Amino acid sequence: TKTSSSNFIKSIVTEDIASGKVKEVITRFPPEPNGYLHIGHAKSICLNFELAAEFKGRTNLRFDDTNPVKEDIEYVESIKEDVKWLGFEWDGLFFASNYFGEMYDRALILIRKGLAYVDDQTADQIRETRGTLTAPGQESPYRNRSVEENLELFQSMKQGNIPDGGKVLRAKIDMASPNVNLRDPILYRVVHAHHHNTGDEWCIYPMYAFAHPLEDAIEGVTHSICTLEFEDQRPFYDWVVRECEMKWTPHQYEFARLNVTNTVMSKRKLKQLVDEKAVDGWDDPRMPTISGLRRKGYTPEAIRTFCREIGVTKSYGIVDERMLEHFIREDLKLKALRTMAVLQPLKVVITNYPEGQTEWLEAENNSENPEMGNRQIPFSREIYIERDDFMDNPPPKYFRLFPGNEVRLKHAYFIKCEKVIHDDNGNAIELHCTYDIETKSGSGFTGRKVKGTIHWVDASHAVPAQFRLYEPLITEEADDDGKSFLEHVNPNSLEVLEGFVEPGMKETAGGDKFQFFRHGYFNVDPKDSTPEHPVFNRIVSLKSSFVI
Ligand code: ATP
Ligand code: MG
Ligand code: MG
Repeated sequence: TKTSSSNFIKSIVTEDIASGKVKEVITRFPPEPNGYLHIGHAKSICLNFELAAEFKGRTNLRFDDTNPVKEDIEYVESIKEDVKWLGFEWDGLFFASNYFGEMYDRALILIRKGLAYVDDQTADQIRETRGTLTAPGQESPYRNRSVEENLELFQSMKQGNIPDGGKVLRAKIDMASPNVNLRDPILYRVVHAHHHNTGDEWCIYPMYAFAHPLEDAIEGVTHSICTLEFEDQRPFYDWVVRECEMKWTPHQYEFARLNVTNTVMSKRKLKQLVDEKAVDGWDDPRMPTISGLRRKGYTPEAIRTFCREIGVTKSYGIVDERMLEHFIREDLKLKALRTMAVLQPLKVVITNYPEGQTEWLEAENNSENPEMGNRQIPFSREIYIERDDFMDNPPPKYFRLFPGNEVRLKHAYFIKCEKVIHDDNGNAIELHCTYDIETKSGSGFTGRKVKGTIHWVDASHAVPAQFRLYEPLITEEADDDGKSFLEHVNPNSLEVLEGFVEPGMKETAGGDKFQFFRHGYFNVDPKDSTPEHPVFNRIVSLKSSFVI
């Protein structure tokens, strides 16, 4: 595996190893199974797995499943699949919910030490009395309950005697702390809900901020890497580990989360797109999910290189989406078979070509990688060209077909447009051309030159195919309320075209990737493609103005 360039987290790990503070690096990737993973998660996955691997350490996959209402086994399975597909192998596979018993016992330790109490206030009241950055919070009237009373009430919460929201367990720290997160944060709440892993065993659930440090400590995680929003939580993280008397002390380090232009990076919003059927599921190729990127045609290598190259920083930034596109082009450039596809066909009859004859022309499979060899493509009297490659009245510098003009057909001959057949609306529906047998590709013909080379597919052998072209799903940054967000879905985010590919393309399988001459890179759709009617998702066009 390749190693990441140096970054501040790597420097910390290097020092910790050198000083003997840490013998083996243990990291974790801790998704909440409440949705599918997106490209932002890929960054965290790469960071955690590659960091540990570089120091010959280990990485756990841990499901942070402390919120029963939003979690589902479907998400657990998809997350496992995505991590494996990215090319990583976890050491331990853990569920935070398997630690509920231990977490409960740790909460009892806090109560016995007078460091936690049961509060009868509602969530709203607790929020309202938290204070602000400049004003201290107010102490709860229940803050000074005795240890015995707290033990009894907490047990009563656990036994199911308290309705949802009836009581919470709070840490007793400091309502005047300058760090709002230390103003008696909630540790446990009552939720009478079925949990995907623990079923109906529990009706109290730990809050993320309490559970996470315990999970890290239980697993012996050395470097607990999270995003910058959790920086202010670190004092509480350390408090939990210390006051719960955990044997192992993990440390939290924060880095800036990945943001990408024109890309929705929130599971909540992505779920909304799925639920409202704005997309064809979590793996819709327009989705920035790992499964969507996979179905679109991204490779694990391209995603990993992207994550590595954007680096790890502590300052907010937004990465240009074209950078991701750059890395898939780079990955496929020498690997993908380069063939011809006509996305919007216009029929061309080559009037001086013998009827009923087919010849097989030699075509290189990848002009930049001769090792990929050649293939044979058919050529006969009728072919399809791209509708855009013909104009009745071209503007200056249009070098493709127009009446009287000659172009080269890629891998074949020069053809000259002699006659245009129009429909009643004046649209060209068929061209009559002549070809010049002297101009065959590879024959060394130098008699005259043409300025345009266009692609084509032989009509009698062509395989009908569907092409799906994509644009950003959300064009503008929407306000954060759900409604206006959905109103920003780009109505042109998917364009479906019916055209033709070369006959050799009949044997494709889902996930095969090609470069179609002049159109870009395409992936065979793993769900909808059939040999009779292959479906190609455009991964990315050929060129970008973006330079790294
Ligand atoms: P979202 O905000 O999209 O709902 P999340 O942070 O709630 O994501 P988790 O399942 O809790 O989702 O995330 C698992 C891990 O992935 C966490 O460690 C989190 O910090 C990290 N992560 C999530 N989004 C990003 C991102 N955009 N960039 C980097 N890391 C991320
Ligand atoms: Mg989260
Ligand atoms: Mg979130």
